[in-house]
Amino acid sequence: PVSLGGRIANLFGGKNRPVHVHAVQDVDITVESGEVVGIVGESGCGKSTVARMLAGISTPSGGSLRWRGKDVAEMTAKEHRAFDLGVQMIFQDPFASLNPRMRIGDIIGEAAVKHGRITRREQRDYVVSLMEKVGLSGAYIDRFPHQFSGGQRQRIGIARALAVNPDLIICDESVAALDVSIQAQVLNLFMDLRDELDLTYLFISHNLGVVEHISDRVVIMYLGRVVEVAPTDALYGDPNHPYTRLLIEQVPSLEAGKRDYAPIAGELPSPLDPPSGCAFNPRCPWATERCRTERPALREIAPGRLSACHLNDPA
Ligand code: SF4
Ligand code: MG
Repeated sequence: PVSLGGRIANLFGGKNRPVHVHAVQDVDITVESGEVVGIVGESGCGKSTVARMLAGISTPSGGSLRWRGKDVAEMTAKEHRAFDLGVQMIFQDPFASLNPRMRIGDIIGEAAVKHGRITRREQRDYVVSLMEKVGLSGAYIDRFPHQFSGGQRQRIGIARALAVNPDLIICDESVAALDVSIQAQVLNLFMDLRDELDLTYLFISHNLGVVEHISDRVVIMYLGRVVEVAPTDALYGDPNHPYTRLLIEQVPSLEAGKRDYAPIAGELPSPLDPPSGCAFNPRCPWATERCRTERPALREIAPGRLSACHLNDPA
C-alpha cells in the first residue's frame, strides 16, 4: 500500500516570475494492496500532481509519502530503488513516453535488464512473453514505436511497466487519448492483468464513466482538495458532496459503464486565487453564507465514506 498524507503543497516555478501554487493540500490518500482507486476531477484540480507525488516524480514540500509503511523521504538507496520499481506510471500519451529510436524489445526490456531482473540473453523471450500478455504479437519485437497504433503503443507502455514486476500502477489519463472502442479494450486489459498479476491501480481520470468501470473506491478532488471518498457503488448510486452530485446526476444514466458525463456549469476558479470558505461555493446551488467564509472539513459520513460539506454538519 502507498499513502500520501498531511499538508501537501507543490511549487510550480515560472522562469522569471516564480508562482507558488498549493496544487494539493490536506490530501490524504491510501491505496491498499489489490485495490483499484480512482481519482476524479476537472483538469487543474491537482489529480496529476497527486499522481506524480505518489510515483515519486514530484516531491511533496510538506506531509509525507509512505510506501509499505515507510516514509519515502527516509528510505535508504536500496529501499528507494524498490519503491521506484514497485510503483510504475502509465501516461496519457504513450508516444511521448516511448523513445522513437528504440526498438520495442529494448523499450520494454531495458529496465528489467538494468535492474537485474533478467539477463541480456533472457531479454528477447521475456519481452515476447510480456507482449503476448498485453495482447501484442511477439513478432513485432524489432519494430519502432511509430509503427504502432495509439492503442498498441499504450499496450507497449503497459508491457514496459509490467517488466519490472510492480505492485502499484498509476494510470494518469491513460486511456484519454484513445478512441472510445480502443479505450474499452485497454480498460479490459487493465482488469485482466489485475486479476492475473495481483496488481493495485491508482486510476486518474477526468472521465467519471471510465473511473466507474474500473475502480473499487473513488476519490473526488476539487481545486486541490479531496471533497469526497466512497466505494464506487455508493458514490455513483448515492453521491453526497454537491460537486459529486452535480457531476453524476445531471446526466441521465445510460447503459452501465457507458455513461457520458458532461462538465458541470460554471468555471473552475484559478488555483492561484481559490474562493474563500468552501472552494466550491461559487458553483454550488446549496451554498449558504457559512460556505463563503468557513472551509468544510472532510468528515466521515458513513463507514468508508468521507465528504467535505457543511450540509453534513449535524450542528
Ligand atoms: Fe456547497 Fe456549502 Fe457544501 Fe460547499 S460546503 S459543497 S458550498 S453546501
Ligand atoms: Mg492532469
